Amino acid sequence: MSNPILVVGGGPAGLSAAHALASAGQKTILVDKADRLGGAPILSGYAKLVPSGEWARDAIGGMVERVSGKPDIEVFTDTRVTQFQGEPGAFAVTLSNGQRRTVGAGILCTGFTHFDSVNKPEWGFGTYPDVVTTTQVEQMISSGKGVRCPSDGRAPERVAILLCVGSRDRQIGREWCSKICCTVSSNLAMEIREALPKCSVYIYYMDIRTFGLYEDKYYWQSQEEFRVKYIKARIAEVTSDGKRLLVKGEDTLVKRPITIPFDMVVHAIGMDPNVDNPEIAAVFGVELERHGYLQRAATYRAMGGSSRPGVYVAGSALGPETIDDSIAQGQSAAMAALASLRPRALAG
Ligand SMILES: Cc1cc2nc3c(=O)[nH]c(=O)nc-3n(C[C@H](O)[C@H](O)[C@H](O)COP(=O)(O)OP(=O)(O)OC[C@H]3O[C@@H](n4cnc5c(N)ncnc54)[C@H](O)[C@@H]3O)c2cc1C
Ligand code: SF4
Repeated sequence: MSNPILVVGGGPAGLSAAHALASAGQKTILVDKADRLGGAPILSGYAKLVPSGEWARDAIGGMVERVSGKPDIEVFTDTRVTQFQGEPGAFAVTLSNGQRRTVGAGILCTGFTHFDSVNKPEWGFGTYPDVVTTTQVEQMISSGKGVRCPSDGRAPERVAILLCVGSRDRQIGREWCSKICCTVSSNLAMEIREALPKCSVYIYYMDIRTFGLYEDKYYWQSQEEFRVKYIKARIAEVTSDGKRLLVKGEDTLVKRPITIPFDMVVHAIGMDPNVDNPEIAAVFGVELERHGYLQRAATYRAMGGSSRPGVYVAGSALGPETIDDSIAQGQSAAMAALASLRPRALAG
């Protein structure tokens, strides 16, 4: 019988990896630094997910239930890995609770960190209470309180959603596209219009990347059915005239300056590398790629691999990723780790 497999991170990727391993009868240790499993969708209180339309608490909560109380999965929350040494098949692991284990392989599913909008001060976050982030609006919806201006609790009549906040921005060292925020924002705009039919919603964009099958379901539907307005613009700043927030910039289609008043401005925040990645790289002896995400193995023949044999990696630890793809990568890394420990069993 091979040693258990260690999965670090209990978000969508880690939950899927742990479930896949247990389904194959593999003993698994699942470790998360947070006080509960579920990753960003649960910890940050997302509302309805794209593209399934399910509430995050049901969809990801169901994944948490699937791994909880399973005899083959030992779960440690509020726990980190402090040491990971040895060779594939027998790594010596020390946990922050003092426990020591021997594991056959490790799968890193340690995810991302939300971009902190205070790093984009000219767009008003931290200065004006009614400048909020997509995660804050998701929390307003998922808590059942509805979308309200934090300053005085009124329902907004005009909302602007600013795309690419903390993504595709070389000035602040974030060159990457966060992949899902266009789709999430179009969806959020439709949810606001549905809940507050009198509220006008504008989306400010550089490019729209509702990729693949999301183009008609989100981009076109939000305009044609929900009358969401899209403005291609370069935003200079978000200020206030004392009554309303003012989004100032240039309409890049007609090449003219524009200033439009709003009650609420929403930053569609991007996905930064996990702030723990330098520590994770040091403990697990894996490399980071140049933006600070975990480095994936170089070839298609090593899908799920990291730069170190016996250590696998999945989900948004590798770069901005959707939930669907994080789940698929979790399963794929689980299969790669399992195959490394039981090659003949799988071949036979
Ligand atoms: C505002 C917003 C809305 C989004 N909405 C959607 C959506 O509707 N649909 C969609 O497909 N995608 C959405 N996404 C993207 C989605 O959040 C990610 O695809 C998903 O969370 C990635 O899952 P993951 O398991 O890779 O990482 P995470 O969800 O980040 O989970 C990582 C887990 O690892 C743990 N961890 C981190 N570091 C350590 C450590 N050092 N030791 C131990 N544990 C650690 C964390 O506590 C966490 O539980 C959204 C993103 C944003 C920013
Ligand atoms: S998905 Fe859209 S909002 Fe997000 S970074 Fe890419 S282009 Fe910008």
